[in-house]
Amino acid sequence: MNKKQRKKLVIGIIILLISISVAGVIINYFFSKPDKEEIFKIGYKKTTADIAYENGVIIKEEFLTVNPYSRPGTQIKEVNNIVVHYVANPGSTAEDNRNYFEGLAESGETYASSHYVIGLEGEIIQCVPLNEVAYCSNDRNDDTISIEVCHPESDGKFTEDTYNSLVMLCAWLCDAYQLKSSDLIRHYDITGKVCPKYFVDNPDKWDDFKSDVKKMMDKF
Ligand SMILES: [Zn+2]
Repeated sequence: MNKKQRKKLVIGIIILLISISVAGVIINYFFSKPDKEEIFKIGYKKTTADIAYENGVIIKEEFLTVNPYSRPGTQIKEVNNIVVHYVANPGSTAEDNRNYFEGLAESGETYASSHYVIGLEGEIIQCVPLNEVAYCSNDRNDDTISIEVCHPESDGKFTEDTYNSLVMLCAWLCDAYQLKSSDLIRHYDITGKVCPKYFVDNPDKWDDFKSDVKKMMDKF
């Protein structure tokens, strides 16, 4: 190999190395960021509390202080249904609702809380650990997990991001507790209260929601 050939070889190797690095960066950019679905698969192997992280935090664990009005600390012995609610306070955020529950510890105004609140951008805040009772679903507090869902308008319709998070959270919970999508219930199904309003006013959308949860569960 003469000098010229050696030079060509070195340049060739350098170009090859640069190409590999560039390809690596491109592949990393497109494929490394887990989508929400992927995060939930990770979550399935751990607990909901472990799910959150860096590239798309979806569950923040902000447990309420143990107090008689919103987190009694009572152990939940079995979970037979997941109950969906709407916050009935248009435009309020997940954080607002979580802080309202926390404030009850001081004000003692009423008894209220939920295990989760899902916000307008699909963010999820967990307020009460899953092995404890939350005050959300009347005489079914003892054997249900409750989810309060935020909504922009008074019609109670959820944003797309909120809806998607609700589907994923319900799928995860059903899978974790070995429940079926038909074990998802509305607050309305317990007391007749118009909650969650959009799913009471539009029973077909409630059915669509349950089938979306089932589809998501099939992917687990
Ligand atoms: Zn409700």
